[in-house]
Amino acid sequence: MIRVVLFDIDGTLITTGGAGVRAFGRAFDSEFKLPHATESLQFAGRTDTGLALEVFAANGIKPTTRNLQRFFAAYTPHLEEMLGDCTGHICPGVKKFINELKALRPAPLLGLLTGNIRPGAELKLRRYGLWQHFTFGAYGDEHSERNKVALSARRYSRRLLGRGLKAEEILVIGDTPRDIECARAIGAKVLAVATGDYTIAELQVHQPEWCVEDLRTVRARIICA
Ligand SMILES: [Mg+2]
Repeated sequence: MIRVVLFDIDGTLITTGGAGVRAFGRAFDSEFKLPHATESLQFAGRTDTGLALEVFAANGIKPTTRNLQRFFAAYTPHLEEMLGDCTGHICPGVKKFINELKALRPAPLLGLLTGNIRPGAELKLRRYGLWQHFTFGAYGDEHSERNKVALSARRYSRRLLGRGLKAEEILVIGDTPRDIECARAIGAKVLAVATGDYTIAELQVHQPEWCVEDLRTVRARIICA
């Protein structure tokens, strides 16, 4: 039985129509005078800290806590501004699936497992009215590696539900091979959704327990049984 469901954000719950990527670029431009910093970055499935460190390394900026703080202090207001008039949307079936999960008895705990920094995650999900559904989260400001974010998510889950929580009672929902990989790293099950940059065929190569076009076709009581 699934007792904890951990959602990725970008490409899984929502898409921001590129607002996140543009805010990243603006922050590098305004704070570090790097107008082309994000042009060759691969964002999907990464952590914000990992992405920022990659740009630092490529541009000779020291990977210090102070520089990361400077970057994210610039990024957050840019993100807020860009979310204001972005063309993003909630991914198909997300609201229905969350409502089904919350109606289960016993209902699983709903959390976030994301590469976004916490303030970025909150801004994005409040923009689409989804933030209040999640009891807890593990975020990309804690670690640069997604697998370590997943370990934090498992630790928080056990703190909330007790040490008896088995790894296979955790479900990770995500849209990239990195989501599947980080679920494997903590022994969790995976539901892969093709609502981000990857197709069903590309995701299936990584053998998630479930793989669907989007959450409209998924029944919470079947997945969580
Ligand atoms: Mg994603």
